[in-house]
Amino acid sequence: MRMVIIGGVAAGSKAAARARRVNPDMEIMLYQSEQHISYSACGQPYYLSGMIPKREALIIRTPADFADEGIEVKVNHLVTKLDTANRLMTVQDCQTGNTIQDGFDRLVIATGARNLLPEIAGCDLDGVVTVRSMTELDRFRSTLDRLQPHCAVVVGSGYIGLEIVESLSRLGLQVTLLGRNRQVFSRLDAEMSQSVHDYLMAQQVNVIAGDGIAELVPQSGRVREVVTLSGARLPADLVVLALGARPNVEIAEQAGISLGDTGAIAVDERMETNISGIFAAGDCAESRHRLTGKPIWCPLGDIANLQGRVAGENAAGGDARFPGVFGTAIFKTFELNVGLTGLTEHAARVAGFDPIVTVINAFDKARYYPGTERLKLKLVADAKDGRLLGAQAVGAGAVDKTIDIAATALMGKLSCLELENADLAYAPPFSPVLSPIIVAAGALSKQLK
Ligand code: FAD
Repeated sequence: MRMVIIGGVAAGSKAAARARRVNPDMEIMLYQSEQHISYSACGQPYYLSGMIPKREALIIRTPADFADEGIEVKVNHLVTKLDTANRLMTVQDCQTGNTIQDGFDRLVIATGARNLLPEIAGCDLDGVVTVRSMTELDRFRSTLDRLQPHCAVVVGSGYIGLEIVESLSRLGLQVTLLGRNRQVFSRLDAEMSQSVHDYLMAQQVNVIAGDGIAELVPQSGRVREVVTLSGARLPADLVVLALGARPNVEIAEQAGISLGDTGAIAVDERMETNISGIFAAGDCAESRHRLTGKPIWCPLGDIANLQGRVAGENAAGGDARFPGVFGTAIFKTFELNVGLTGLTEHAARVAGFDPIVTVINAFDKARYYPGTERLKLKLVADAKDGRLLGAQAVGAGAVDKTIDIAATALMGKLSCLELENADLAYAPPFSPVLSPIIVAAGALSKQLK
């Protein structure tokens, strides 16, 4: 049996490795359009800031590592066409332009996502950069080195934009964050997002929310200014476009593979598409939200790995399931940690729940213990039975632990009544005697009673 994987970063690499473990005899071929496979896009902001000095640290596994496991990898090879009826594909060698035909019995599509660009002229000007692929990263790095910019405009206030704001500020640039949405990191409820906004202003970031990019103004062939939709003129010798991404679904769609409501490839719990034996995983594939049951596009590295593992196992003859997502996410900007899981209050209402909520400010360790930090925590529960629906946390404190406890509570369908008596680990260096999540769950329980 011959399995082919298209795309080799997170989902594709994981699918290949898993398939090999499940089926030691299977022929496995991976086509990757870029020069590198199996790298961490997630680490790119820290390489740009200089915190991670070596670019190579971001590359997790090489084609030679895969060859050791009997997985053939062809980099710089773009799959241009799929023929699902005859189980054939056309592959172009990006260096020579030559094309070949290859066949498969099982296929995993892991083509990921690409950056959205604004529909304005000048996106290819010198000084205008994006992050995602290693090629984009190298262009960003060399632009910094060559142009030695002093002032940057980061367009897009999602988590990648906020990570890049930190990277550039650490390099000494004066940074403006320009976001179309009135809320910075708009996945949060308004009062939580306001905390992020206020924090960034305190870090001397010029935050402009509710305005977008209208024009990139060049001078001597490089970008010099951004004009916003409201007419503001922002000096910029570096512009980072971080407006979000869209799934790479074109070859799948042209081959008759169904897309879901989100525009990503529709899959079942086995990560199988509408065509038997053809799987999809990672940023190109859709997920199901475990609270609403609705389709959701969740382009995150951990999800790509989880889905890739399931797709790889099933393509190799196994029977694994991916149960869906809670939309759990975390990032940091400067020393502020921001995380969420499940539904915000707003999303809970949109989904038809009647939510009760609480917002608390807490320490993450005993308040007298050196290094204790604060965090603001919001919990959302269902007024009907107290079942936890979501958590958002913002602060210098242990947001990661808080959100991971909440995510696990969502999985276990725990109510705030159960959570307020959770037996969590306590000693002064690790937690207050009652963890913030217990305190917040207690506040919700009072409302419920
Ligand atoms: P991709 O990484 O997009 O890889 C798909 C690959 O397939 C690409 O190399 C593409 O060139 C190739 N390809 C596409 N079409 C073809 C074709 N036709 N033929 C051959 N090859 C093809 N996620 C987190 O969970 N936490 C984080 O902290 C985090 N930080 C991030 C920071 C940045 C700056 C960025 C850009 C992303 C971050 N992510 C993070 C998201 C995470 O990197 C992605 O979710 C993950 O890379 C998705 O993996 P993937 O394999 O599905 O797709």
